[in-house]
Amino acid sequence: MTRTVLFRESRPALGRRLLLGAPALLLARPAAATVEWRGEPAQGALLIGRTVPGTRLVLEGRAVRVSPAGLFALGFGRDHGPTATLSVTPPGGRAEDQALAVRPREWDVQHITGLPPAQVTPDESALRRIMAERARLAAARSTDSPLPHFADPLAWPARGRISGIFGSQRILNGQPRQPHYGLDVAGPVGSPVSAALAGRVVLSGEFFFFGNLLVLDHGHGVNTLYAHLSERLVGEGEEVGRGHLIAKMGATGRVTGPHLHFSLSWYQTFLDPQPLLPS
Ligand SMILES: [Zn+2]
Repeated sequence: MTRTVLFRESRPALGRRLLLGAPALLLARPAAATVEWRGEPAQGALLIGRTVPGTRLVLEGRAVRVSPAGLFALGFGRDHGPTATLSVTPPGGRAEDQALAVRPREWDVQHITGLPPAQVTPDESALRRIMAERARLAAARSTDSPLPHFADPLAWPARGRISGIFGSQRILNGQPRQPHYGLDVAGPVGSPVSAALAGRVVLSGEFFFFGNLLVLDHGHGVNTLYAHLSERLVGEGEEVGRGHLIAKMGATGRVTGPHLHFSLSWYQTFLDPQPLLPS
């Protein structure tokens, strides 16, 4: 497969400590840690980076898996603060902190007032089911595998009208609802749904809110989720190629009409897939 991967280089500014250090110390120091990436740190962004193989990376206390070729993935959530610290330890070198500026984004937030109180509250057995499903989903989305597909370009998982975007949120009668953590593509029941990246199926099941659901692992914590399916065509453990048919669009779970709810995550942090999809 041909890959067009453009990386931008980022070198840490020399710290004051270094500038004040004796020249001998400077000479003894290994080359500055180099990290380069595709994209920019921003709320909701997935960054694919490259560094010297053998480099150790820690983002805000979390070890970041680096492939034998030096590739890695980082994700920043919808509500991430303005900065993040990436600790970079080159092979045989010392850890150096890089401060990343995380660009804030404006999310589509709608205030709706004067609504009657919510009528639908799940009963006790539904709540138990929801809690159990949440745990299964969390386990699947924690998968940390060495699969290399995370660095490939994303493909659209379905064709249709964009009926919901990442990050949008409704505030009903002053009560903030959970933001929308996916991209919705609406189309007729039975429309093909394909894998946005090559990967392995780590979850296949029928869920209360998501209906028929698939989660694929693409390596290094990057995973995608496909919900409200009418049919699941692959099972857990199966390997799938990018663009392979994995399911059919449906209206299962809690929905108002047939659509695919598609999510991209870095481990359990939901990210915005739209900037990564071909326009
Ligand atoms: Zn959705």
